Amino acid sequence: MAEAGYVAPHWPPPWGLDADPITQLVIDEELRRAGVARPVNPIGIGWAGPTILHAGTQAQKDRYLMPLLAGEEFWCQLFSEPGAGSDLANLSTRAVRDGDVYIVNGQKIWTSFGHMAKFGILIARTDPDAPKHAGISYFICPMDLPGIDIRPITDMTGVQMFNEVFFDEVRLAADNLVGEEYKGWALAKVTLANERVSLSGGGALWGNGPTATDLLALVKRRGGINDPQLRQRAAQVYIDDEILRLIRLRTVTAAIQGRPPGPEASVRKALADQHGQHIMGLAKDLAGTAGLLAGAGPLGESDPTWNSGYLFSRVLTVGGGTSEVQRNIIAERVLGLPHDLDVEAGLSWTEAKVEAR
Ligand SMILES: Cc1cc2nc3c(=O)[nH]c(=O)nc-3n(C[C@H](O)[C@H](O)[C@H](O)COP(=O)(O)OP(=O)(O)OC[C@H]3O[C@@H](n4cnc5c(N)ncnc54)[C@H](O)[C@@H]3O)c2cc1C
Repeated sequence: MAEAGYVAPHWPPPWGLDADPITQLVIDEELRRAGVARPVNPIGIGWAGPTILHAGTQAQKDRYLMPLLAGEEFWCQLFSEPGAGSDLANLSTRAVRDGDVYIVNGQKIWTSFGHMAKFGILIARTDPDAPKHAGISYFICPMDLPGIDIRPITDMTGVQMFNEVFFDEVRLAADNLVGEEYKGWALAKVTLANERVSLSGGGALWGNGPTATDLLALVKRRGGINDPQLRQRAAQVYIDDEILRLIRLRTVTAAIQGRPPGPEASVRKALADQHGQHIMGLAKDLAGTAGLLAGAGPLGESDPTWNSGYLFSRVLTVGGGTSEVQRNIIAERVLGLPHDLDVEAGLSWTEAKVEAR
């Protein structure tokens, strides 16, 4: 699939097909019809690859892009730190040039799949004296370098998805710098802005897991809902699902017409994250007292998907830009309300994403 250009058809050859939005949708549709799934490598294909394409050297493109598309080499993202989340540019991990290596010291956190990844995209401070956005550089980091300590964090679903990653005098080859030194913040924005055109909203948990339609089909099978409050919540879940579908169509239409996405993306994320929580919360409450059991589905049947989905759904309004930050953006950039953030001090993660668009 990677060699045929079907994994990321919008990339240029030889990795993609330079596909326009309509061709992308046709390829998606055909793959779905044939029951063919793309390789799973979300950070590699979604974020690292586009940034390497944009700013990497020819040697970096030749080395990393094809194995990444084929899912042969898995990637993670080393951006967030204990003191740098919403205010990502506040990061303090240091990379100091020493001949043909950088010496990296510091700590990252919430590194999804860090324990499974072969490479990570890393942003680190190379000039501590520059204004905070100006002193950051962007690297490709092999995860098996001496001095990297990956410590698992088990989340409340019981799964170890993310990690703390410590860097202790890690010697990172200078060849692994992507783009120019000190220009890492601009590249981080390229990373965050890169999204494929897709008609499918997928599951309610960031594209995975069950959807509102799945839950409402179960409700129908159960013969409806008598409790008026639960019934109202089911109606609201249906309405929100429909609104999200229409917003998605607007975004796709804009892409097909070559227009920039506009504020829909921020509105969609703010709505979709809460929507996921509402679906999972409703599924729990439909189960009644049986919902206290980890294995019970919305009809009291045995189905652990909904319980783990309910627990996982808490992260939706945090990861990739929190709901509060999304609302700040909508308030300021869509509604024209006064600034809440200290913009002089730096753009937040999500703001950077919007700005990049
Ligand atoms: C499931 C999951 C996977 C993740 N995977 C990765 C990964 O692979 N790599 C990676 O680098 N990071 C990852 N993250 C981290 C994620 O990007 C951060 O959690 C996110 O950016 C928020 O940062 P924070 O957790 O430091 O919270 P903080 O920024 O400290 O926010 C704490 C609270 O303060 C609020 N707040 C902050 N600033 C403002 C403001 N200006 N106005 C109003 N309220 C504000 C927030 O909304 C939040 O409620 C992941 C997170 C999750 C949940």
